[in-house]
Amino acid sequence: MTTRKPIIAGNWKMNLNHFEANLLVQKLAASLTAEQLEAVETVVLPPFTDLRTVESVIADGKLKIKYGAQDVSPHAGGAYTGEIAGAFLAKLGCSYAVIGHSERREYHNESDELINAKNKAAFAAGLVPIFCVGEGLDIREAGNQVEHVLAQVDAGLEGLKTEQLQQIVIAYEPVWAIGTGKTATPDDAQEVCGAIRARLVEKFGAEVADVVRIQYGGSVKAANIAQIMAQPDVDGALVGGASLDAEEFVSIVRFPE
Ligand code: PEP
Repeated sequence: MTTRKPIIAGNWKMNLNHFEANLLVQKLAASLTAEQLEAVETVVLPPFTDLRTVESVIADGKLKIKYGAQDVSPHAGGAYTGEIAGAFLAKLGCSYAVIGHSERREYHNESDELINAKNKAAFAAGLVPIFCVGEGLDIREAGNQVEHVLAQVDAGLEGLKTEQLQQIVIAYEPVWAIGTGKTATPDDAQEVCGAIRARLVEKFGAEVADVVRIQYGGSVKAANIAQIMAQPDVDGALVGGASLDAEEFVSIVRFPE
């Protein structure tokens, strides 16, 4: 069994202008030691328009904080007004791109097919997808969460190469727990994250499944991170609201202490 390095990523969503982004990253830099950043991979996911600022702060401080975008175009370039190509993000030093966040699935009607194309486009540009899956409340209440999430996982990973599967980060985010203050119990998180890993074993073998990092996301905060991270198939967290508060996010990253 491989040891997977925990990965905590802060999804800022459509918040913080570039001055505020600068300040937040400066605060993270001042509070997290090199050892803490070595122990827990720490990622911020700002709006596109803050990426340049975040790049400068991180490069100037030679910080080990990574960053990424909240979406990527499925296209490599061309006449796609308003879209952002993976290559542009890679040029700005992004390591990651969030793909298939529930807010994009819901408000932009993103299909599993489109999300699969975005996962492929991200890899083609040298970015690692943080590929999001999760069920809505109706599906959870009907008890179909595992089946629903596994169908999303199957579709999103379709056609990826072994070396890509080994790098991808999968974020399990029950939609009913996002931004609502309702956190899934650690057992709920483990049930679905464990099922995702079992599916990876079944489809791609234990060597791949053992190294894939699976995050939980949904109202994660300093008060609940340790219990969530104690689950055997949870390797990190995708944090929304709490990532906008430097102190809270720092406490989340320091969960092992
Ligand atoms: C998210 O946006 O991915 C998220 C998990 O949000 P929150 O932590 O605010 O629930």
